[in-house]
Amino acid sequence: MLIWGTRLLRWIKGYLRFRKKGAARDLPDVVSYDGYFFDLDGTVFLGDRLLPGVKETIDLLRTKGKKILFLSNTTIRTRRECQIRLQKLGLQARLDEIVTAAFAAAVYMREQQPDPTVLVVGEPALASELDEQGVRMTTRPEQTTHVLVGMDMKFDYAKLHRAMKAVRGGAELIAANPDPNCPVAGDIIPDTWAMVKAIEAASGVAPSAIVGKPSQFYASKVLEWCGLRGEHCLMIGDRLETDILFGHTGGMRTALVMTGVTTKREAELSPIRPDYVWHSMERFVELARAL
Ligand SMILES: [Mg+2]
Repeated sequence: MLIWGTRLLRWIKGYLRFRKKGAARDLPDVVSYDGYFFDLDGTVFLGDRLLPGVKETIDLLRTKGKKILFLSNTTIRTRRECQIRLQKLGLQARLDEIVTAAFAAAVYMREQQPDPTVLVVGEPALASELDEQGVRMTTRPEQTTHVLVGMDMKFDYAKLHRAMKAVRGGAELIAANPDPNCPVAGDIIPDTWAMVKAIEAASGVAPSAIVGKPSQFYASKVLEWCGLRGEHCLMIGDRLETDILFGHTGGMRTALVMTGVTTKREAELSPIRPDYVWHSMERFVELARAL
């Protein structure tokens, strides 16, 4: 009798907590994960503005001793530049808490490829990360073993010609991320994938690897670096086809925030289903405080 009474009490408590949270019954408490992964653009900041609830979320997770990583698909900023940008917005992050697609691509070239000589199509940040990983670079198509492509705001006919020649000569085409375009203040600009497809069209050879979110490589490296299993981590981002899919790739729980590129209608229609949908990180703070 006593056992049944205790069970009933526990059930009522659980039910009340579920009602209070407004979350699905089978989802863990929002603060029960060991690792929290944040996309940057549209999730943590928008332009030079920190998004609502982000500072409170990070402070709360830091006091609880959670592992935090900032995972960006950028190829035009180094990790150090991302760190400075976060600092300016009032967020302190260690360098090893920041991962970009440029950094992941440099690690990929160093770890996955035997003795590569890379022709870079991209901004200086991409070459800088390759240089830090000790990866050899060239501008000569005949020496190239891999053409690594990121967003390149000075992409032109001569670069397309060089990259095409390298790929036709047997070099592998590697995409630093699969992003077709990138929203910026009051505009949208072509991103990495547009350049990859131009080189593919000219050479007739498709990319052999994509490194950034949502790739298996990026997901497995991130989990390796933080020493956690996917099911103990929550990936938070504003893009379904990169951030949320990345979370699914790594076996993580996922949260979509509506502060970036995804509209409510897109979220409703997409086959990619996040575990949580929050209007902003303020919702996370509300849910965490209600526990
Ligand atoms: Mg984003």
